[in-house]
Parts: sequence; C-alpha cells; structure tokens
Amino acid sequence: MTTKLDEYAKKRHFERTPEPRGKRSAATESPIFVIQKHQASTLHYDFRLQSGDVLKSWAVPKGLSTDPNEKRLALPTEDHPLEYAQFEGDIPADEYGGGTVLVWDTGPYENVTQDKDSGDTVPLEKAIQQGHAVVRLHGEKLRGGYALTRIDAGDEEKWLIVKTDDDEADARRNPVSTEPQSVLSGRTLEEIAADSSPGKARKKQ
Ligand code: MN
Repeated sequence: MTTKLDEYAKKRHFERTPEPRGKRSAATESPIFVIQKHQASTLHYDFRLQSGDVLKSWAVPKGLSTDPNEKRLALPTEDHPLEYAQFEGDIPADEYGGGTVLVWDTGPYENVTQDKDSGDTVPLEKAIQQGHAVVRLHGEKLRGGYALTRIDAGDEEKWLIVKTDDDEADARRNPVSTEPQSVLSGRTLEEIAADSSPGKARKKQ
C-alpha cells in the first residue's frame, strides 16, 4: 500500500496543503467512486474508483457525460489515498495541483468488467492493466454504466470514458453544467474558495 501512494506523497507538502496524507486503510463494504471538480491551472474533473486501499484516478477535462454518444477524454493520474474521496477545499496556489476542489459526485460503484471468453468478472486492477473496465455508478448525479477504454499507451497514456446505453443514459441531461455544486456541502467552487481564503474566518458547520 505504501509504495502505491509514494508518488502521491512525493508531490505534496502536507504541512502546507490541506489534502490528506493517506494513512487510513480500506474498511468499506462496497467500493466507492468520487468525481472531484478541480479548478487548477485548468478546470477538470478527477474521476476516482476505489481499488482496495487506493483510488485509481483519471483527470477528465470535460467531466463525465450522461449521453452515450459523448466520448470524454481521460488522462490517468497517480493513485490517491481512500480518504481523498471526502476532500474539498483549497490547495495552495504554489503547491502541486494548486486550486479549489469540490466533491461533484460520489457513491458506491460496481465493477462489471467481464472477461470476453469466460464471462467472469475481471478485478478492477487487472481490468485497468488490460486497458478496459466497465463500472456501474450509484451516485447522486451519475448513475448506471460507464466504460473506460485505453486508447493510447506509453508516456502520454489516454483513455476514453463513455456512458453505457442503458436505462440511466439521457442525452438531454448535462449535469456538468446544470449541477455544478458539491454533493457534500452544496457549495460552488467560488464559495469554497471564498470560505478558504486567508483572513476570512472559517464558517462553523
Ligand atoms: Mn486534479
């Protein structure tokens, strides 16, 4: 477990950033997913899937769609600790990933990746290694199947995330633009940034 989070820890100064250090281990019954809206140098959505003690992670510039015809580019990033799933706040501007983070959606998910030949479920870690994973999300904003497919390997690894054409697919919804607020606190990025700004007393909640 420690080796998996080495890259995460190496990039951060925990005495200066409010992000979690990553020590707690997994104890939840069903794995969770989280999508964090992150206003860093560019706005993006960090899509994370729990795999054991860590969150496998991709940065999705446009966020996930509910339209099966919309392919969204996803760029893999380092594994994050499990408790990162509850993190929202401000990362100092001169730190790695500096900017504001909110929890845009979260909930349990099921790994429904099937081996083509046997029909058996492929463990998520192995599915990611093989470049194809299918999950069913049970979030507040996003529900149903999503397929992740690696389209480019090597140093500039690229994936696509596409909504499965199931009962929860809906081309008319566009939650990335119509539901911008945090599912944990109801706040927008601007409100989180204002709440975290130096000199301003933090609101008690
Ligand atoms: Mn990010």
